[in-house]
Amino acid sequence: MKVVVAEHFGICFGVRDAIAQAQALARAAPLTILGELVHNPIVREQLRARGVREEAFDNTTQTSRVMITAHGTSDKRRDALNKSGLVVADGTCPLVRYAHEQLKRLVQAGYFPVVIGLANHVEVRGLVGDFADAFVINESADIGNLPARPRYGIISQTTQPIDRVRALVSEIARAHPSAEIRFADTVCKPTKDRQLALKKLIEVADVIVVVGGRQSNNTRQLVETCRAAGKRALHIERPEELQPEWFRGVRVVGLTGGTSTLPETVEAVRQRLEEFHD
Ligand code: SF4
Repeated sequence: MKVVVAEHFGICFGVRDAIAQAQALARAAPLTILGELVHNPIVREQLRARGVREEAFDNTTQTSRVMITAHGTSDKRRDALNKSGLVVADGTCPLVRYAHEQLKRLVQAGYFPVVIGLANHVEVRGLVGDFADAFVINESADIGNLPARPRYGIISQTTQPIDRVRALVSEIARAHPSAEIRFADTVCKPTKDRQLALKKLIEVADVIVVVGGRQSNNTRQLVETCRAAGKRALHIERPEELQPEWFRGVRVVGLTGGTSTLPETVEAVRQRLEEFHD
């Protein structure tokens, strides 16, 4: 069995920088992260071992220093935190900030705000948090509930596959033919790179192993892309989950990981897959 690793896989600069920031802050003084720093259980275990606390976004915190995660938050929430007397470190990824800026710009130009993504995801909650009327679309069925407006300004959660986003934008245009539509592409480059590399892998592999948190949106989207292409995808968080019998008769196995998956986790998975040769 041959193991082919995707050209682009695993941790992105936004997550890497947020982890480094959290570790440096935690070394200096007790720190509470507002929510899950990243949706990856191995990274979270490592942070807990270093004494970093994570609390639900709305809980009152017991440390005087808190950190906003790479997923970002609304300006309203950030202002409230700054005024609360806490020392606030902001780990928002610059590419999430870019998405916020694009939505703000569209609203200022008179467009009705629409975000393509998961309504209950922390990044999307932050994106719509400053716009009470913002509408979130995750799938075609949601478009029927979009209120009729003359102008729609559409952005996307940073970790959505761009093909899926563009297809939904076209559907919105078809459902509202007289509306003016402006779309700002806010899918981040690391997500695009990983999706594109996965498509190449799908062409050569019999089965794809996707390594990443079960709550990680971009990891789940990698799995979805495989399944939409009719390719068997195995979503695991840790190398120990792999079972040799999953690979009977497999000649080529593809390997990729989501943007919060550590390189050492992907390497451990690769090594375990190589063991299945014997
Ligand atoms: S997935 Fe994209 S937007 Fe999210 S932290 Fe990584 S680079 Fe930033």
